[in-house]
Amino acid sequence: MTSSFPASTVLGYPRIGPDRELKRALEAYWEGRSDRAALEEVARRLREDTWRRLAELGLGGSPSNTFSYYDHVLDTAVLLGAVPERYRHDDDLTAYFAMARGAEGLPPLRMTKWFDTNYHYIVPEIGPETVFSLDAAKPLSEVREARALGLETRPVLVGPVTFLLLSQAAAGSPDGFAPLDRLDDVVEVYGRLLGALAAEGVGWVQLDEPALVADRTPAELAAVEAAYGRLGGLAERPALLVAAYFGDLGEALPVLARTPVEAVALDLVRGTPGDVGLLAGKTVVAGVVSGRDVWRTDRDRALATLRAVRERVGRVAVATSCSLLHVPYDVERETGLDPALRGRLAFAEQKVAEVVGLAHLLVERPGADVPRLSAPQARPSTSGARVTETRAPEGGRAPYAVRAAAQAERLKLPLLPVTTIGSFPQTEELRRARAALAAGEIGEAAYEDMVRAEIEHVIAVQERLGLDVLVHGEPERNDMVQYFAEHLDGFAVTRHGWVQSYGSRCTRPPILHGDVRRPEPMTVRWARYAQSLTSRPVKGMLTGPVTIVAWSFVRDDLPLRDVVLQVADAVREEVRDLEEAGIGVIQVDEPALRELLPLRRAGQAAYLEWAVAAYRWATSGAGDHTQIHTHLCYSDADQILAAIDALDADVTSVESARSRGRVLAVMASGVAGGDGRGFGRGLGPGVYDIHSPRVPGADEVERLLEEALRVVPADRLWVNPDCGLKTRSHEQVEAALANVAEAAARLRERHTTR
Ligand code: GLN
Ligand code: ZN
Repeated sequence: MTSSFPASTVLGYPRIGPDRELKRALEAYWEGRSDRAALEEVARRLREDTWRRLAELGLGGSPSNTFSYYDHVLDTAVLLGAVPERYRHDDDLTAYFAMARGAEGLPPLRMTKWFDTNYHYIVPEIGPETVFSLDAAKPLSEVREARALGLETRPVLVGPVTFLLLSQAAAGSPDGFAPLDRLDDVVEVYGRLLGALAAEGVGWVQLDEPALVADRTPAELAAVEAAYGRLGGLAERPALLVAAYFGDLGEALPVLARTPVEAVALDLVRGTPGDVGLLAGKTVVAGVVSGRDVWRTDRDRALATLRAVRERVGRVAVATSCSLLHVPYDVERETGLDPALRGRLAFAEQKVAEVVGLAHLLVERPGADVPRLSAPQARPSTSGARVTETRAPEGGRAPYAVRAAAQAERLKLPLLPVTTIGSFPQTEELRRARAALAAGEIGEAAYEDMVRAEIEHVIAVQERLGLDVLVHGEPERNDMVQYFAEHLDGFAVTRHGWVQSYGSRCTRPPILHGDVRRPEPMTVRWARYAQSLTSRPVKGMLTGPVTIVAWSFVRDDLPLRDVVLQVADAVREEVRDLEEAGIGVIQVDEPALRELLPLRRAGQAAYLEWAVAAYRWATSGAGDHTQIHTHLCYSDADQILAAIDALDADVTSVESARSRGRVLAVMASGVAGGDGRGFGRGLGPGVYDIHSPRVPGADEVERLLEEALRVVPADRLWVNPDCGLKTRSHEQVEAALANVAEAAARLRERHTTR
């Protein structure tokens, strides 16, 4: 059965295309500008290019089935036949995209973050009645496609335990049902898939089980042992590699060790070899090249780790720590970067070369001294001391009641004030102008005229619709993190460094490589201009320190906490300058607060403590009469409510339109404050789902607000959408906000005449 595992491999590869070819092809298909054949051709070419490139770079074993039209978890649901009834359609691609994006009258499946990354997966729905059936078309066709190019590949699949742990119980499932209850049925389908792959002549299959690096119950660990015992016991199957990444396997390692799987992939960047000796007899696929950052690998250290592991287990292959999905394609294209910085960077291609190089060193020169292949990495001087000595965690603001009174006096807002989360639609015109500015085709002044015109428009719209706290609309921002990175020292931005966020959506994470400083104000003139156009308060908009760091590639020579505190310093200065410019409301967004939460409970309290301290440092310089808002979304806010409460913002807006009151219920229940009184400051549960083109009616919004009023007192309830409006059209936004304002007005009427 077993061919030996190749000496080098990667656990996965980017799939969006070096120039986001897949994004363009998908969007053309969705908009009806192209057909299925055209989409399939782009996809086929991207896969082919990837396999050829990996082979050229000398990689020993290439993965397949890492391509996806939208998301690999959704692909797994399809593979298992777990397509909820309401999405079924004669055309499989139509059903697939309906699950991912919704369709006429049909909301999509939920989407959430893949572990502690900024990649979002589609959450499968599994119930007691879900009928599983094997649809092996995708992995089989990818194997055949690569073979036609003369290449053998290793299909990659989300493993059965992780798949079920990431799924949610289908609506109507009985209390106490968990998708993992269906493990036996799912494993049976995986078994048949392994049979089909074996029949196809596939030598190795990779089953991804990142869920095993988080805390797992004894029952869950028993499920792992049962699943892999059963799959390992099949007579007709390829050899099995179980890949667990993003941390330490911990107590799951001995469990996997007892199963008959042939190989285990360990993340030796974020995790340690631990009890790796227990894996003797299996191949250890040693993830020593990080798939999560963009730094060159320290070869000496990686080799030392590889040798130490080999000594304890015998068979070692060199690999990336996880899929390379989370890094851009090729740093060589970043000709605009400072060459000294570029020399320290490795994107996917460079990481593959590193893996290959390490594998050569490991086999060719066993025991020999490691030749130094590159000069030691020059790191910028650290300033940890600067950070820790100047930051007291507590801010100097008065208690909420005092602040609320000062703010009421200054802002004179009505009951149920209406506001938005910051961005207004980004027009195609603005995007083009920004590109033209970057290309030097138009001047700064022409661009800024456009930004100002857009601010004028957005302020006029908000006044016309009767909003109470206005925003300038963020027209100058390409992205809520990149904009700040471009204005702070210590960051570099890339031109082509796209990373998939979800579906066709990509971001270009900035690279935080040095000490962060704010050379000059970043947002003040736009806020000041907007405020000059209206007598209503304009809200200044900033991204919080945790989010700026979470959505960047971060230097690894300082503790994350210290890096975040440096950014908090810069935000604090910006808050002060906004305040001085007369801005009375300032929102500091932290949508990524939840994302950096350590996967294991042991590290969570410490993280939340410093993350909250950083936020408070960023905002607590504001006077009591300045109203601080924060905004969280995408982030399963209900899991970290106490921390959100501890941010001590005067007003918190949270995504909630899609969560059917769940966030609201928890926030109001007293869990948040931990004192039985619930969330004690201003709260704006979103009443307009901006992820959908749908325009909610005034009645619907009114109903949502009435629900909210059952748990939030009227004098603390805010009325706002779920998130920024930048992905919507001006028409949708104006229609929706008109209804939101109308609903607020009706309720206000009733509450004041009562
Ligand atoms: N202020 C940002 C916006 O409105 C917030 C975006 C977000 O929360 N993701 O676009
Ligand atoms: Zn948001």
